[in-house]
Amino acid sequence: MEFISVRKSKMSIKSDYKDYEEHRNRIAGKKTGKFFINQELRYVKPFQIYGNLYYVGGSWVCVHIVDTGEGLLMFDAGNCGAQAVLIQSIWEMGFNPADVKWIILSHGHVDHFGAVNFFKNMFGTKIYMGEPDVKMFREHPELTMIQESGNCMDTLFHVDVAVKEGDIRTFGNTTVEFYLVPGHTKGCIVCFFDITDGKERKRAGYYGGFGFNTLQSDYLNEIGDSGFQARKDYLHSLEKVRNQKVDLFMGNHTSNVDLLNKHEYMLKHPDENQFLDDKAWKNYLDQKKKELKEL
Ligand SMILES: [Zn+2]
Repeated sequence: MEFISVRKSKMSIKSDYKDYEEHRNRIAGKKTGKFFINQELRYVKPFQIYGNLYYVGGSWVCVHIVDTGEGLLMFDAGNCGAQAVLIQSIWEMGFNPADVKWIILSHGHVDHFGAVNFFKNMFGTKIYMGEPDVKMFREHPELTMIQESGNCMDTLFHVDVAVKEGDIRTFGNTTVEFYLVPGHTKGCIVCFFDITDGKERKRAGYYGGFGFNTLQSDYLNEIGDSGFQARKDYLHSLEKVRNQKVDLFMGNHTSNVDLLNKHEYMLKHPDENQFLDDKAWKNYLDQKKKELKEL
């Protein structure tokens, strides 16, 4: 009996390794494969953007923290597989990750919810996400692209609050106004809220998803949207929130707001804050409208 079990386990080790290798090669060979390796190399030293708003994301995917005075409110949770990098960044910014009481997800894609399970399991952090993406988790989990992380132990999670159009919710001293901006996914959200440096208040605008990857004809045909409704929704979403007053534009990828260059400039010119720009929101939304029409 013993002999048989040893032989069996040997065969299993070899074939398990072969499975692992095949899986790894398949994921690494995809266009998105490069985003899920060596995530430490995308570490950005965290910094204060303005007042009680801080940057703790990487060089590709944004993560923002608002210190609400009664706990930390985090926008997005980084890429899958980048949990350790995010935790390091929060500590380096001078905060304790255990104080993250709420996470608002820009939308339900793999590159934005990486550390959600960690925060839920460790600290009981409450998760907020647009209602249509909660439905996507349930009915079309494949559209979250979780399979691209390459780690089949990554899982989706229970969302505590499904955000609806027009919701207004208070987190410590911060009241957030929510809108749904379908397009990139159906459940992308926009948030407006005040940030403060103690003396003055500014209005932040957070736009939760600009990528055109989910508007490509191949993608839309595959998911059964042959009339390209998603593109029409995207355009309507831009128009809906374009005229809001926004002093500080927050994106969910650094390229949206040219975050890395602005930060570098800030380091050289500590008296100037290029993140405070009441035209940036409108300009970027107009740029996306133009690009969309050219798609
Ligand atoms: Zn996305």
